[in-house]
Amino acid sequence: MSGLAAYAALEEHSRGRRHAEPAPAYRSEYQRDRDRIVHSTAFRRLVYKTQVFVNHEGDLYRTRLTHSLEVAQIARTIAAALRLNEVLSEAICLAHDLGHTPFGHAGQDALNECMMDFGGFEHNLQSLRVVDELEEHYADFDGLNLSFETREGILKHCSYNNAVHLGELGQRFINRQQPGLEAQLANFADEIAYNNHDVEDGIRAGLISVEQLLAVPLFCGYHAEVQGAYPALTGRRQVYEILRRMINHLVTDLIDSSSRRLASSGVRSIAEVRSHPGPLIGFSDETRELNHSLKTFLREHVYKHYKVRRMTAKARRVVIELFDIFFNDPTLMPDEHKATGSRLELVQGPAGRARAVADYIAGMTDRYAILEHRRLFDPSERT
Ligand code: MG
Repeated sequence: MSGLAAYAALEEHSRGRRHAEPAPAYRSEYQRDRDRIVHSTAFRRLVYKTQVFVNHEGDLYRTRLTHSLEVAQIARTIAAALRLNEVLSEAICLAHDLGHTPFGHAGQDALNECMMDFGGFEHNLQSLRVVDELEEHYADFDGLNLSFETREGILKHCSYNNAVHLGELGQRFINRQQPGLEAQLANFADEIAYNNHDVEDGIRAGLISVEQLLAVPLFCGYHAEVQGAYPALTGRRQVYEILRRMINHLVTDLIDSSSRRLASSGVRSIAEVRSHPGPLIGFSDETRELNHSLKTFLREHVYKHYKVRRMTAKARRVVIELFDIFFNDPTLMPDEHKATGSRLELVQGPAGRARAVADYIAGMTDRYAILEHRRLFDPSERT
């Protein structure tokens, strides 16, 4: 592909797909990855999965789908500015949350506890499992058969114990190597997106106020700028004018400081990026501090807010009770999942059965999990 930097993910250097396929006629390989992700079942379900606020709390909050679209938008800007592979970064971002359970992090933590004796549950690993195993679209293989670089980007973190079972994809966690730059920037795009949209959603939900946010230096600085330019502006438009400046600040800093690091590192290929001693995409020290204080504020005032914690507590109960009832009696699962459970149990014992239950629960949307819980625990509900 022309116009890309030498250290970008160039298709001619791709480590390819697990199952060989003829090259597409009019698309690049990474475009094909992105398109497969958009057509996947798991992608459609993201619209009914929570980021922080439960779906039925209102139609205006981010869901995992709109979050993923915002992440992809930010990532494409960064990728293009650094002459990296924009399409690959978009594909990674659109897929990055495919493995998330219902109810955001509360669901993931609860499912991880349930799976403690059976290898645990990591949402990054589950996203990979979705694209490698669980999607049922093609006659010749399970999953979406994505390119190595897309899968590398999806698997953001992974424990050593899991990495050893992942073949070449797990190698970098064992050898402490870096992923390609498109994968590195996807993580920052994710963080920039959620830190800023959680401010907006938090205000909308009445959990935090503009006055409280003045304690956050990044917010406070742009609040002053917006007030100076538009003294009469209040409410939604004022918040948005501040947030767009915050996002712009973070994105611009990330591009500038990564650009400097790339230049001084002297890397000339994706192979050199992977073996470089540390990540090459990153904020300046000053902006890292600003970003950190924003995150700290959100953790204290939004994620630990009693209303969010109530939701978290309910979500935990739903996930744990669903896991227990299905694990103890897999015949209560729909036929397809029951059959998967028997098949996996035959090979892996109880861990296989647990994995099938975890896959079933992780695939649920918020509202499906709530309904399924009701069908199993409320005798007046139709089964
Ligand atoms: Mg995300």
